[in-house]
Amino acid sequence: MSARFGFALLATDGSARAGVMETAHGVVETPAFMPVGTAGTVKAMTADAVRATGARIVLANTYHLMLRPGAERVARLGGLRRMMDWPGPILTDSGGFQVMSLARLRRIEAGGVTFRSHIDGTAHLLTPERSIGIQHQLDATVSMVLDECTPFPATEAEARASMELSLGWAARSKHAFVARLGYALFGIVQGGIFPDLRAASAAGLADIGFDGYAVGGLAVGEGQAAMFEVLDATVGLLPADRPRYLMGVGTPEDILGAVARGIDMFDCVIPTRSGRMARGYTRRGVVNLRNARFADDAGPLDPGCGCPGCARHSRAYLHHLFKAGEMLGPMLLTWHNLTYYQDLMRGLRAAITQGRLAEHATALRDGWAAGGA
Ligand SMILES: [Zn+2]
Repeated sequence: MSARFGFALLATDGSARAGVMETAHGVVETPAFMPVGTAGTVKAMTADAVRATGARIVLANTYHLMLRPGAERVARLGGLRRMMDWPGPILTDSGGFQVMSLARLRRIEAGGVTFRSHIDGTAHLLTPERSIGIQHQLDATVSMVLDECTPFPATEAEARASMELSLGWAARSKHAFVARLGYALFGIVQGGIFPDLRAASAAGLADIGFDGYAVGGLAVGEGQAAMFEVLDATVGLLPADRPRYLMGVGTPEDILGAVARGIDMFDCVIPTRSGRMARGYTRRGVVNLRNARFADDAGPLDPGCGCPGCARHSRAYLHHLFKAGEMLGPMLLTWHNLTYYQDLMRGLRAAITQGRLAEHATALRDGWAAGGA
């Protein structure tokens, strides 16, 4: 039983929005955070554990999956959702970002990008049509257009050429996308840090017409202030009746600022990667559980958190697990960090709905600044 893809705004508070995204594979309340399942798994987590954190949509990477195990194989095995045992919606990126950051000998042309696999050196060609075809084979609920993530820094001329290339690829991606009930294709705004280019990109994408709109090319070294400036110049130009997705962002502070500017969806490796590296995100800031001061600390990591690591274990135990190199340490802390991020999003949704986002933001920042975690 498939539902039509849709997005409904439930409340606004300033520029911030609370809404609901309906898909073929379930409903997602927004603002939403998508855990990153790079290679078809949210690292160190079972699918049930991911769902227990409150996550309702996860992200997977086209680049990694096309190389290993291969999109055709995933399709033969019933699609990525079946393989992962994740019944909910999945969003796949187009592969473009990882080609730029991971692949060797890459060459960008109007047709697409040729590259060699970072795993075994085999040659591949990724075109807009091929990217959309792979995402179809993966059975992605939400597919992304192939784009070029404009490097930072870039001159205005470089950013313009990159943005125009991405706009052409966006049109080809739309043409290649096979519409199915409850499935969606999102466009991606590029243009570097230049407001005029961002505006041209947003207008061009709206002319083509997409189910949702992402802001790409940020969190690549420009800094939070520049990122917020780009959002201030861009978000208001995106169709208000479609979900807006800020790709690859970010810290809790980044997310708070972006939600206040009207962003509805996020993905980032920070909570999962940090969890594997002993960094815990809490209501009282970030802590490093390798720190010796936790060796005898019998208290929970975050008293406000209901995850297994906080509800059933002490900081001293988590410290011990990391010191001993036990795999349960990364597992428990990943679970905690993802729970913290989902709690953060739930709190933001409630605050927007109740029209008290500004007060809520102040309380969050006061907690992070107070430390003591
Ligand atoms: Zn916890």
